[in-house]
Amino acid sequence: MVEFFDTHAHLDYPDYEGDLPQVIERAHAAGITRIITIGTDLESSARAVKLSEQFPAVFAAAGWHPTNVAEAPEDLRPALRELAGHPKVVAIGETGLDYHHLPSEKPECSPADDAHYKRRQAEIFQQQLEVAAEFGLNCIVHQRSALADTLAQIQPFAGRVRGVFHCFVDDAEAMRRIVALGSLVSFTGIITFKNGQSVRDTAAAAPLDQLMLETDCPYLAPAPYRGKRCEPAYVREISQVVAQVKGCTPGELSAATCATARKFFPNACGRNFSRLRSAPRSGWKCIVRLID
Ligand SMILES: [Zn+2]
Repeated sequence: MVEFFDTHAHLDYPDYEGDLPQVIERAHAAGITRIITIGTDLESSARAVKLSEQFPAVFAAAGWHPTNVAEAPEDLRPALRELAGHPKVVAIGETGLDYHHLPSEKPECSPADDAHYKRRQAEIFQQQLEVAAEFGLNCIVHQRSALADTLAQIQPFAGRVRGVFHCFVDDAEAMRRIVALGSLVSFTGIITFKNGQSVRDTAAAAPLDQLMLETDCPYLAPAPYRGKRCEPAYVREISQVVAQVKGCTPGELSAATCATARKFFPNACGRNFSRLRSAPRSGWKCIVRLID
C-alpha cells in the first residue's frame, strides 16, 4: 500500500477523547504514516505536543488561530518559543487571517471593532511568522476572505518562512500567487464533494510538487463519510480524487506529496532527525506542566 501523510489534523479536540488510539490505528492501517496535529491556541498546542510524545507517527504544530485572537496574550512569542523548541514541533500554526465573520455582524459592534479585530489578527500572525523564522520552521496558514492581506504579510518572510495555505478552496490564480512566494497549498475532503468542482479545478492547475493532502479532521470528512466525524485514515479517500484530478497514479501522488511534506516539515518525516537527536532546547519540559 502506498503511504500518505495527514498534514493537518486536530487530534487534541474532544471529538477523539474516547478512541484516539483506535483512530491512529485506523490511519496506520490505511497507509497514513505521518499525522501532524495542529494547535489553535497555547493550550491546544500543548496538547498537540503531548500527543506527539505519546504516538511516534504524530507530530505537532504550535500556534494561535486567527479567529481566537480575542483571547490571545499581547505578546504570544515567549510562550510560543517554549513550544517551538520541542523536538516534535514541526511547524508554527495554525495562524493567518480570517475576515469571514467580523464583529460588526453583531448590532452592538461597529466598524472600529472590525478594525481592531483585524489589527489583532495581523499582530498575532506577525509574531508567529517571527518565531517561525527564528526557529527555521514553516507556517500552517489559515486564510479566509483575507488573501491579499495574508500574502502581503507573508511576503517579507519569503525565502525564510514558507506557508501552507491549508484547506485551500480559492481559484488557480490565487494558488499561483501563493506558489510564486515559495508557499504551498493543501487540499481537504472538500475536493471529494459533489459541489467541489472549483476546488478540483484548482488542484488540476496546481503543480504536483507544490501541494499536500490533509483532513482538517474532525471537520470536512470526505465522501462517502461527509457529515460524519473525520479522521486521518480518510486521507486515502482524498488521495483517490486528487490522483484522478491530476491524472497520476496513487504511487506518483504518494511520492510527490510525501516528498513535498518532507521538505516542508523537515523534522517530521524521516529525512532530518538532527533536531530529534540533539538535546531538546531548555524549557520545553514545562509544556507538560502547562496542561497537566
Ligand atoms: Zn485546522
